Amino acid sequence: MIIIFKSGATDEQIDHVIKRVEALGLQAHLSRGTFRTLIGVIGDESLFQPEHFQAVPGVADVIRVLPSYKLASREAHPQSSVIEVGGVKIGGGYIGMIAGPCAIESAERLDAIAGAARAAGANILRGGAFKPRTSPYSYQGMGEEGLKILREIGDKHGMPIVTEVMDPRRVELVERYTDMIQIGARNMQNFVLLTEVGNTNKPVLLKRGMSATIVDLLMSAEYILARGNPNVVLCERGIKGFDTQARNLFDVAAVPQVQGLSHLPIIVDPSHATGRPDLIPPCALAGVAAGADGVHIEVHNCPEEAMSDGPQALLPEQYAEVAGQIKKVAELLGKKISNVAPSKAGTSA
Ligand code: PEP
Ligand code: MN
Repeated sequence: MIIIFKSGATDEQIDHVIKRVEALGLQAHLSRGTFRTLIGVIGDESLFQPEHFQAVPGVADVIRVLPSYKLASREAHPQSSVIEVGGVKIGGGYIGMIAGPCAIESAERLDAIAGAARAAGANILRGGAFKPRTSPYSYQGMGEEGLKILREIGDKHGMPIVTEVMDPRRVELVERYTDMIQIGARNMQNFVLLTEVGNTNKPVLLKRGMSATIVDLLMSAEYILARGNPNVVLCERGIKGFDTQARNLFDVAAVPQVQGLSHLPIIVDPSHATGRPDLIPPCALAGVAAGADGVHIEVHNCPEEAMSDGPQALLPEQYAEVAGQIKKVAELLGKKISNVAPSKAGTSA
């Protein structure tokens, strides 16, 4: 951290800051220029809030040298992390292909969607059992019954599963069934929930909040890492824009930005980013071309009957087409799609 003093700062004010820094067990290196005086502070910045020095009389500015998302930062961990979800790798050259319906509706329907998604190249099955809906009157999900179905169908097709948890009191329940825990956009800054999933060892899919900055996203990842769970995959799923043509604004530039700042894998979710089936394939390909470590797409075999997000679902044949194109772009970049376990359902990967 560097503390810069105002040009008129008195010796008493500078001495006061030095004493405060040293009282925190840190070293202060004073440097007096012709116009400005500054202090270089050496020591563990996690022991205090650098911003607090901003308000001390005589101080003009405080600059952090290390990012506050220390564990998530690439400086702390130059090598890209590879996260394993039930044997499927994401990151470090491996592309995660997450697909499935927005909500789990029945075993029969999920079975049909999972079989088709896997045959098309998906390697992780998604489905919501606890749905975060804007209206309390909308479908809220099947709850534990849905988790059982997801587990059973995932196993049948040899696919690891990912599902959302919204309530810190249900982390233990969801953890028991799933291979990966999803934190949805609406809960990206639910710090109690982040702490709870950080206490588990399950891979976490952390979706970017619709109004969250990239640093906000990395700070939320830090909550999970700080509890000792290193298995975090980030997800760009669109942010609020002013144009109502699409559901959200797909921030494709977030992918290389996050990869510059962090070692954690980042995938894209063009389904929630655009909300439109015609925009999902081009945005999926743009995401992979920009370096994304995976693609999350909602697939449904009868979108008009879907209980949630039907209008944005791709049909299995549409998913198959884009999945084939994603594979080609990935290969062009020297990346691979991690294999799944043999299916017990007679479908081929
Ligand atoms: C979802 O994955 O179904 C979902 C609700 O996503 P998000 O949190 O990104 O809106
Ligand atoms: Mn959805």
